[in-house]
Amino acid sequence: MKDQFDREITYLRISVTDLCNLRCKYCMPDGVCQKRHEDILSFEEIAEIASAAAQLGVRKVRITGGEPLVRRGCVDLCRMIAQIPGIEEIDLTTNGTLLDRYAKDLKAAGVTRVNISIDSLDPAKYRAITGGGELSAALAGIRAAQEAGLIPLKLNTVLIGGFNDDEIPAFVKLTRTEPVELRFIELMPMGGHFGPEAYLPGDTVLERVPALEPVPHNGGVARLYRLPDGKGRVGLISPLSRHFCASCNRLRLTSEGHLKPCLHSDREIYVRGKHGEELLETLRQAIYAKPRMHGVLDAEHPSGAGRTMNTIGG
Ligand code: SAM
Ligand code: SF4
Repeated sequence: MKDQFDREITYLRISVTDLCNLRCKYCMPDGVCQKRHEDILSFEEIAEIASAAAQLGVRKVRITGGEPLVRRGCVDLCRMIAQIPGIEEIDLTTNGTLLDRYAKDLKAAGVTRVNISIDSLDPAKYRAITGGGELSAALAGIRAAQEAGLIPLKLNTVLIGGFNDDEIPAFVKLTRTEPVELRFIELMPMGGHFGPEAYLPGDTVLERVPALEPVPHNGGVARLYRLPDGKGRVGLISPLSRHFCASCNRLRLTSEGHLKPCLHSDREIYVRGKHGEELLETLRQAIYAKPRMHGVLDAEHPSGAGRTMNTIGG
């Protein structure tokens, strides 16, 4: 279905939990998250909503969170969604630290591929930004995803000035030998305690690694580049310096059942408890409520999302 600005909405991002086994400084800045089991959608409720979305033209689903793999039975949910007629692709965004355990089962359940978040290649810095995470666990998850065939693998790195910009060349170098898409994401002002210097434009990557050459655009949100001899690619996702609202094709579902027409707006439409035609109508309303674009985002203008990222599903 098209929204009122002629954008075809084909992509549903589903947050299955607000909980996480890490505490990234930009995502869960205050480190707390409490929610009762009965407050979050059951797998049956999620599958019913995804199925209705598929009837309206959604073809791709992403399972996210919080950390989706901390929700018990996440693999079963993926299997349920993969079986919905019309859903052609199901992806998962994860911090990777539990993938060692689940990668093969996710592949068998019908998951197409995964995005893994990794903000530093230095164990001490990784521990600092994630509030205690182990880099070795994330790296084991990356290996497990590759071995299970959850490919092409995408790695997400939030670019944080003064924290990991010195690692840009090392991250890019990974794409020389690994067939991965390493995506630098501009830090979004969503409640984290960062000074203006932390908000680096994606183009910083091109300044630091001039050898990167552009690759034809594939319609996604990332601008793509590669090293001349690289097996992988480098993506720049720039929600602040070059927003991609004109091609936004997505709708978000929070773990308690709110549809979010736009990541950076506090407009939410409660969908829990709706069935049949009423459910379809609620989804249509949410698609129709998508704004043409979000407001300015920078250090002085925080996101209007009204929630931290772990409660939305990044
Ligand atoms: N736990 C999973 C993970 O870390 O990949 C999935 C959920 S996480 C909220 C999804 C993505 O959002 C991650 O790649 C994370 O780095 C990104 N993210 C969270 N807060 C962000 C922020 N303030 N700015 C930019 N990216 C952010
Ligand atoms: Fe957890 Fe992902 Fe948020 Fe980090 S970015 S706190 S891993 S949900």
